[in-house]
Amino acid sequence: MNILLVEDEKSLSNAIKKILEGRGYFVDAVYDGLSAIDYAKGMEYGLIILDVMLPKLDGFEVVRILRKDGVNVPILMLTARTTVRDKVTGLNYGADDYMTKPFDTEELLARVGALTRRTGEVIVDDIKFEDLVLNVKSAELSCGRESVQLSRREFDVMKTFMYNPKMTVTKDSLIINVWGIESDATDNNVEVYISFLRKKLKFLGSRVSIKNIQKIGYKLEVAAE
Ligand code: CA
Repeated sequence: MNILLVEDEKSLSNAIKKILEGRGYFVDAVYDGLSAIDYAKGMEYGLIILDVMLPKLDGFEVVRILRKDGVNVPILMLTARTTVRDKVTGLNYGADDYMTKPFDTEELLARVGALTRRTGEVIVDDIKFEDLVLNVKSAELSCGRESVQLSRREFDVMKTFMYNPKMTVTKDSLIINVWGIESDATDNNVEVYISFLRKKLKFLGSRVSIKNIQKIGYKLEVAAE
């Protein structure tokens, strides 16, 4: 399952991401309120973890806007503020749960588990799209009887596509998701990994290919049977 994590403290964000990924969740991390809205509207998430004090737009506004625009993903608010009034504000705007910092790992996982179960989704070992199966634990990509091992980066790129199979994935979002927002990765890095993956898809004989979307990014394309 995909989780959108909105937390501007980089060290805390990295720590939460690591904990959740260790439990098999996929985590997109963004660091300000406007990006939170873009991502929440652009991708399918099972949960949004949202800090209150954020650059550009605070967490309360993010919740208010998302709910107003019909985004119904469960939202867990995360904040250092502990006053009752803040909790009420968050919940009134449409957040589902509230957690105050600092918190421990078990508490976070318990709340994430409760909120994601509410949507009826489960964490899966395999992501499937058309004739492809991507194993989340082994990072093996299979098609019929053939399978190939993906590198960590190839896996992160492929998983982004397979979780959003009908969407155009931008080069920028790949850079942020796969290399991280503070990396020096450029479009060239993305292109190199796309070419690796294309070779592997060809080797597998999959009907799925990665199509260029001019000036934007890429999208999965399925050839007719
Ligand atoms: Ca903050």
